[in-house]
Amino acid sequence: MNSGQTASRASERDTAFDVVIVGAGFAGMYMLHCLRGLGLSVRVYEAGGDVGGTWYWNRYPGARCDVESLQYSYSFSPALDQDWHWSEKYSPQPEILAYANHVADRFALRRDMRFETRVTAATFDERAKRWSVETDRGDQVSAQFFILAVGCLSAANKPQFEGLSDFQGPIYHTGEWPHEGVDFTGLRVGVIGTGSSAIQSIPMIASQAASLTVFQRTASYSVPAWNAKISPEAEQAAKADYPALRAKARARPTGVYFPYSMQSALSATPEEREQKYEESWSRGGLPFLGAYGDLLFEKEANDTIADFARRKIRALVKDPATADLLCPDNVLGCKRLCVDSGYYETYNLPHVHLVDVSKRPVERFTQQGIVANGREYPLDAVVCATGFDAMTGSFSRIRITGKSGLTLSEKWHAGPRTYLGLCAEGFPNMFVVAGPGSPSVLASLIQAIEQHVDWIADCIAHLRDVGAQTIETLRQYEDDWVEHVNEVAKVSLRSTCSSWYVGANVPGKPRVFMPYIGGFPVYVNRCNEVMSNGYEGFVLEGANDHNAPPKVRLTERWRVPLDMDVISPAALAARRVPIV
Ligand code: NAP
Repeated sequence: MNSGQTASRASERDTAFDVVIVGAGFAGMYMLHCLRGLGLSVRVYEAGGDVGGTWYWNRYPGARCDVESLQYSYSFSPALDQDWHWSEKYSPQPEILAYANHVADRFALRRDMRFETRVTAATFDERAKRWSVETDRGDQVSAQFFILAVGCLSAANKPQFEGLSDFQGPIYHTGEWPHEGVDFTGLRVGVIGTGSSAIQSIPMIASQAASLTVFQRTASYSVPAWNAKISPEAEQAAKADYPALRAKARARPTGVYFPYSMQSALSATPEEREQKYEESWSRGGLPFLGAYGDLLFEKEANDTIADFARRKIRALVKDPATADLLCPDNVLGCKRLCVDSGYYETYNLPHVHLVDVSKRPVERFTQQGIVANGREYPLDAVVCATGFDAMTGSFSRIRITGKSGLTLSEKWHAGPRTYLGLCAEGFPNMFVVAGPGSPSVLASLIQAIEQHVDWIADCIAHLRDVGAQTIETLRQYEDDWVEHVNEVAKVSLRSTCSSWYVGANVPGKPRVFMPYIGGFPVYVNRCNEVMSNGYEGFVLEGANDHNAPPKVRLTERWRVPLDMDVISPAALAARRVPIV
């Protein structure tokens, strides 16, 4: 349990803060740390019982990160980089959560946090030029700035299957896993979904359950993680020059450093490609897509890697009919590529069965199980690995009202609209960390978060420097950015399939490619320019000096030399940017 202030605390009424932050995941934690450095008063509200965000909630068996541990961590503190020890190439969830707890302790973050508290409403008071914030524990506070650090994948998608309440056994969602864990020993278990969460948990559940039935609507591509302990030598080598590793990562389109090729797959011979794909498969993980530069731009190029992956699946799965069902027929990497440890091999176990629900959906739950394809599957427990209302779902759960009574849900009814994924016109002094319209889920998320937090902290410091009361995006700049985000998305094959990137997994959600796919360093450059140009595209109300050059404080570290051959808009236009 956290520092104990939550269980029976009194509500906060009429308290005024400089800043209210929603969320105590990696974004909210670092945001608090930076704002404290500016001497501001900050309150963080968090729905969970402690820090960690996504890693607090996603405790399903097998949960681990698909970005390598030495890069999936904060980079703001060299001492933290040196002190923390990651044990595996891909960290398991408990280790990432332990890291979040360590950071919270190390920087004494919890004293400004209130847990088990969900922000229900936030309203901009145009007269006072402050945000009024309400929570489900009766808090009513105000703040000059309102910062949403609510996460991209935190609102669970729970399909309303008919008969759910009839089912007599427990129904779990991977994103809201019980803290005490679940013992499936001897049980007949059903898993709905075959995305990243399912692919990680299925081998673990299968190792306990008496039988496992997987209901698959769309097959996913998955690449082996080849997870392993990090040797002391490898750890030492990375830590000997950690800043260099961070700088190399920041210069990459995804904010992650790994070997890649800019060559076109179509310019290689079939033999060369085969060799390259074998090498990439043996390296494993997301870098598989870095085998060639055009894999996410040219369907014909993608067909070659997709064909290779399907052959791997057929070689791994003994029953040809099951292997056929597990072979996706869409673009590899269009939906987020999965990374697994023994996923396909699990289907060779005699007690594991795959049920295809692609043509006829899961029909209903009954007292004893699930009906699909006209047949009842008797089950003792069901796991919904059905994903998230991604990128916007956490915003919809808060009634956010900006100027003239406009709510954010109304503004975003046809899809999210932001300037740089950071701010929205009509919502002064509101910032979003890793919001739609920024690289967020297409970059290494902790890097994306830190870059946003540094930018926001520098922006707030500047507002103080010049005495401005509010900052608000100009409509034209927001329109232009939204158009740019949409235009860039069209270049990539990623926008062509029905994934959570485009909101297709949630019925009724507008189909818009939500993250910015132009590449992390290009995006960072744009944010730097906007700042250097005196917060171009924003109106600063009440500033006593509109021409005062903004001080570059925390954002200085994002002004790294870029490998422009790889990530420039020209490279994007030439359709040669690995993993975009
Ligand atoms: P997801 O990728 O959205 O997968 C959800 C699965 O549930 C899909 O197979 C989906 O089928 C299925 N589904 C949804 N509604 C259904 C319904 N009504 N009937 C039948 N099937 C249904 O969600 P996720 O696996 O939780 O992963 C989400 C994202 O979180 C990942 O893409 C990744 O970015 C992140 N994540 C990362 C890691 C990691 O670091 N290793 C682990 C877990 C998650 P359709 O495809 O047909 O919609």
